[in-house]
Amino acid sequence: MRIRVQVIIESDQETTSPHVEEVACLERGELTPETLGLRLDEAKQVLTGVQQVMTAQQVEDYVEHQRQCPHCQLPLAYKGHHQIGLRTLFGKLTLSSPRLYTCSCQPQEKRSWSPVAALFSERSTPELLCQEVRWASLLSYGLTTKLLGDLLPMEHQLSTSTVSRHVHQVAERLEQELGDEQPSFIEGCPAQWYELPEPGAPLTVSLDGGYVHARSPEHRKDGSFEMIVGKSTTGEGVTTSFGLVSGYDAKPRRRLFEVLQSQGMQMNQAVTFLTDGGDTVCDLTEGLNPLAEHILDWFHITMRLTVLNQMAKGVPDQEKGEAFEKDLERVKWFIWHGNVYKALQVLEDLAWDIDAEASDEAQKLAKTLDEFDHYIRTNRSSTPNYGDRYRNEEAISSAVAESAVNQMVSKRFVKKQQMRWTRRGAHLLLQIRTRVLDDTLPATFQRWYPGMETSESPQEPALAAS
Ligand SMILES: [Zn+2]
Repeated sequence: MRIRVQVIIESDQETTSPHVEEVACLERGELTPETLGLRLDEAKQVLTGVQQVMTAQQVEDYVEHQRQCPHCQLPLAYKGHHQIGLRTLFGKLTLSSPRLYTCSCQPQEKRSWSPVAALFSERSTPELLCQEVRWASLLSYGLTTKLLGDLLPMEHQLSTSTVSRHVHQVAERLEQELGDEQPSFIEGCPAQWYELPEPGAPLTVSLDGGYVHARSPEHRKDGSFEMIVGKSTTGEGVTTSFGLVSGYDAKPRRRLFEVLQSQGMQMNQAVTFLTDGGDTVCDLTEGLNPLAEHILDWFHITMRLTVLNQMAKGVPDQEKGEAFEKDLERVKWFIWHGNVYKALQVLEDLAWDIDAEASDEAQKLAKTLDEFDHYIRTNRSSTPNYGDRYRNEEAISSAVAESAVNQMVSKRFVKKQQMRWTRRGAHLLLQIRTRVLDDTLPATFQRWYPGMETSESPQEPALAAS
């Protein structure tokens, strides 16, 4: 049998007859599993055909409409004809783009203009842009072009450089919407905060850093830099992700403040920051909320204790003292109950017991133990009674869900050792990735391009006016 696929376009004016055009003709013999329905290459051919016929008609209609002067209704004269290339999800199009003279009935700035070129100034449809940057935030730029090219009729229209340029373009637009950095975002005074409505449950913000390999325009290899990522969670469990490249981002606190704002933070509302105690991460949380409290993330304490415990297993008892592992367990429970004083005492005793001269392993253990001692000592003021907090169902750790660093950074930025990033490139891609993981990117596109709205449109978190 022969299957002919035609496009029939009916005009709004009933007087003109419909435009009919055939876009594909498929042949089928006896049915086999491989000949049932459309093959991928045929589906691409049909999509390309429909897209071409449809867009040609749409553009023709648009030009016809533009050709009439909106003031005196007289037709405008053609000055010339050009073609413009336009990328869509269903193939690259070549659109006819006439140049029209402006009408002399009104004073005009220009003598002529190209309505089609002006309408498609971005040269990519918003839907293509959205899919491109979405996939690029989940896969490498190379795999993104391959995936979209394999499944959609867009052969040869995408390259890794196009994809990365589009990622930067979309992310820069997001960046421009972000307000200015300020020394403090705390507004009003305690008397005013007292007047505010009853606040919601405390917001919990976990912050962590991860390193990625750097490259710069001058050097292919250029050390590494830190990406800070975090999640803010409301009492109802709604989570918003954010991230930035430390040292590159000029507005880190504004960024975090906007996340808190979007979650409805009030100045009389408590905010708990869970961090690993690092300076860059702690600086970020200054001046955001008068009731902020800092807590050393229990996850980071247990991680360090696990490392110490593993190391101790490789050192004979006579080099580290017989009760080392047991005492380490005591340290853990002293910290858990908020008794940092006792924990530090035990740590000191343990340090005395190690014979650091005995072996390389013993020396390493002594060094790591000393670092842990220093870690607990410097973060003393952020070490609460975790046991009490746990019983009161207050946040103590960010490790409940998948670690933010693993989810936002490792899986996309460091999965291969040879992946190297410029600070700008990593920062911009991270802005897309956090929104894709939170599933708020489609809503942002719909705000930018209202015509993209569909019946199942997702919601964008409220953006503060800035
Ligand atoms: Zn006119």
